Parts: sequence; C-alpha cells; structure tokens
Amino acid sequence: MFETLRSKILGSLVVASVVSIAVSTLSVNYLFLDDEREAIAQRLNLVAIMTHTTLHKLMEQYHQPASEEFILNIARQQPLRNVRVIGADGVITVSSDPGDVDKIFSEPNILLPDSSFANYLRVKNGKSVITSISPFYRTQECASCHAGSEKVLGYINVDIAADEIESGIDKAQRWIVASSLFVAIIFIGTAFGVHFRFVKRRTRQLAVGISQLAEGNFSYRIESKQRDELAVLASQINRLGDQLNHMKQELEKSHQSELERAERMASVGELAASIAHEIRNPVAGISSAMQVLSSELPPGDERAVIFDEIVHQTQRVNRAVNDLLSYARPSTPELSVGSINEPFLRALVLMEAQQHAAKVEIVRQIEPNLPPVLLDADQMKQVFVNLVMNALQAMHNGGILTLRTYTEGEDVIVEVADNGPGIPENVIHDIFKPFFTTKHQGTGLGLSICRSIIESHCGRMEVKSIKGEGATFRITLPIHRLEEEKVLV
Ligand code: ADP
Repeated sequence: MFETLRSKILGSLVVASVVSIAVSTLSVNYLFLDDEREAIAQRLNLVAIMTHTTLHKLMEQYHQPASEEFILNIARQQPLRNVRVIGADGVITVSSDPGDVDKIFSEPNILLPDSSFANYLRVKNGKSVITSISPFYRTQECASCHAGSEKVLGYINVDIAADEIESGIDKAQRWIVASSLFVAIIFIGTAFGVHFRFVKRRTRQLAVGISQLAEGNFSYRIESKQRDELAVLASQINRLGDQLNHMKQELEKSHQSELERAERMASVGELAASIAHEIRNPVAGISSAMQVLSSELPPGDERAVIFDEIVHQTQRVNRAVNDLLSYARPSTPELSVGSINEPFLRALVLMEAQQHAAKVEIVRQIEPNLPPVLLDADQMKQVFVNLVMNALQAMHNGGILTLRTYTEGEDVIVEVADNGPGIPENVIHDIFKPFFTTKHQGTGLGLSICRSIIESHCGRMEVKSIKGEGATFRITLPIHRLEEEKVLV
C-alpha cells in the first residue's frame, strides 16, 4: 500500500495530522472549554441570584399583586426565560407565562424549605435551562395579608436560558476542528507541492538519466538548476556519464587499433606462412645434403665443424618455419580420452638432453591416478616441450624445474614452475602475443601457439611470476566424464 515515496510521506503526514487534531481538540476541550463552561454557568447563576434578590425585596415591599408587572417585564430580558411565584402548596400563583398560573409547579422535588437557594441545569423542550428556586420566608410585613404561622409562604422560581453554555462551546469546538483541518490541508497540500516540485519530478529526471546510461547513451546529461542533495546526485551521475563516455572512447580506440593490428598480423601471417612453406623443402634438402656431405668427410677433417654448424643453423631455420606454419595454420586437434601425464612425461624425455646441459634439477610431483581429459597427445606434447624449453632457457645458470599435475574441483591442473629470473611486470601481459620475444634467437610464437592449443582443448593457460623468483605456467583442463561421452555418442 505504502510502496511509493509519495504515499509514505503523505500517509505519515495524514496520520500525524489526525493525531495532532485529536490531541489538540481533546486538550482544548479539557483544559479550556470546561473552564469556559464553568464560567458561563457562574455568570448565569449570578443573574439568577440577582433576580431572586430583587424579587424578594419587591415582594416584601409591594406584595405580590404589585410585583406582577415587574415579573412580566423582567422575564422578557435575556437570558431570563420564565419567572414564577409559587405558593407553599406548589401551585403557581404568578408567572411570566400566563398558561402556568394555577398549575402545580412541574418540579416539586426542588421546592426545599430549608435551602435558601437551589438551582440545576436541565434540558427543556430541547433547550438547556438553569432552573433556580428560593423559598420566600414569612416576615412581619407578611402578616397583613398572610394569616397563620407557617415559615415558608412560597417560592420564587427563575428559569434562565443556558443555551449559551452548550452553543458557545459547540461553536468553539467546531472552530478548533475546522481550523485544525484547515492547517492540516495546508500542510498536506504543501507537502504534495514540495514532493511534486522538488522530489517526484527530479527523481524521475534522475531515473531517466540512469536508464539512459544503462542503455549506453553516455552523453545524456541531467539538467539541474538547484543546489540541493538531489542536484549533487545528478552531478555525480553526470560525472559517471563523463567517465563512461571517456572509457567508451578509449575502448573504441584500442579496439580499433587491436583490429588493425590483427588484420595486419593476419596478412603478415599469411605471407609468412606462404614464404615458410616455400622455404621448408629447400631447407630440409640443404640439411640432409649437408648431413650426407659431412658423413663423407675423412675423420679429423676441419670442415666437419663448419658442416655441423650449417646443419645446426638449418635445423633452427626449420624450427622457426614450423612454428610459423603452426601459428598461421593451426591444425584442428584430434581428440581422444587420456591422461595428461602421458604427453607430459613424453615431453620430459625429449627435453632430457637440454636439461642436463642446462644443469637443471627436475622435481616431479605427478599425481599418478589423474582423471582423464579429452586431448590431442601430440599437440599437448608440443605445449609441454615449449614450456619446459622456455624454463630451461630462462635458467641458463642452472636451477630447479618443478612439474606438477593434480586435480582441482572439476579440472586437471598442470604446472611448470622454474626458479629463474621471472618475467618482468612490464612484459608479462605481452608474452602470449605472437612475435613477442626477448630472446636473441626467439620467434615469439611458442606461447601464443601453446595458448591457442590449450583453448582448442576448452582449457585455460595462465602465468604467475615474481621477479627474481621464477615463473609458473598453469594449464587448466576440464575433466572428461563418462556421461559426457554418452551424450556425445
Ligand atoms: P620465444 O621463446 O621464441 O621467445 P615464447 O612465446 O615461447 O617465444 O616466449 C615469449 C617470451 O616470454 C620469451 O621471449 C620470454 O621473454 C618470456 N618467457 C617465456 N617463458 C619464460 C620463463 N619461464 N621465464 C622467463 N621468461 C619467460
């Protein structure tokens, strides 16, 4: 129900207004209107007492018949309503209302001979009336007209209109409620206006701004002429837009240059591959011809050293050409299920000679029962030869090469770690790029070929290195599950 900010604010204001109106009405009623009611009643009582006193004096001096005219006149004055003279037997003898005369007074219970003055508030014909009674005691002057010895000769009754008590209070209460309502309406109306002008419209502007950013329109700007918190938020969103815009432009620029570089590399690669193809056969021919010639030399011939050097150099050319070809035209892996340990150990056998030459100690931490993976054993062997070769080359003054295979979750991990000089931070992000090399005789293709082979096996290849402490290459390959095979079949 109270989900929107507006309903929450306005709901709270309405509740607060209702509570404050109720509290103020009740407190004014109890603290002020009760006193007011009391004061009016006292004033009316005073009028009653004064009327009684005057009538008593008149009756004593001029007796009942002479007082009649006065009674009729005084009863017309506000707030008097009725003035009556009642006999000791309760029969009305004089009344401002001629219809009452000779009737029994309707409230005989309050004719109390012992009390000098009694009054009470009652509702008569829907109107509030204060009825007051005072007994008329026998005096010496009374003896001329009233024989006998009874103490009370009669009573004087004065009715006073007491509407003023209730109508005044009602009016005051109505005013309090009306003015409180008025204040509440002004209050809520202002809150509505403030919410619309300063919150709703502007939060909508902020929402539009954010959704524009989300849609990629980073040039969109939120207009704000104010200087309040929402304006600060708007300017922060605009700043975010600026930054995103800047980043987008940078990204586009780098994407563009990457694209251009990739295109250049692709055409260079194609060209290199076709040249390499042309070179490979003649180089192989030269190499075997030199081997034949070398074998025909008499023992101890000095030219044997030159021939060997030619063979060595042609083999280097051959390796570079092969690297170039496998980079430019990578072959699709022929996958079969097997353990990664097998090509890993085969690669080590191949590298044994170089390992001894480089005086490198090899530590093997091979998990014998590795779960199987899908692999092209020859391509994998090529990867490991490359990594081990790089590590041996890095540790040309000797060192320790640690080779690990183990399982981690749903993957098989292969690690080749050396304790050579490590890879400098400024080049570590470049080593997988084709043609990047720091070696005099390197092609810079080894790691980029390794990575593409690993990726074609749905794996990952990462490197970690600390300068001066060595480098660790880590290959992650997904374990092959038998259920997957069934699905493949
Ligand atoms: P190449 O061996 O022909 O230089 P690679 O792609 O195999 O090409 O290697 C790229 C570069 O990565 C190397 O030139 C070398 O700077 C760096 N590198 C690779 N392996 C290691 C390692 N184990 N220790 C230090 N640097 C390494």
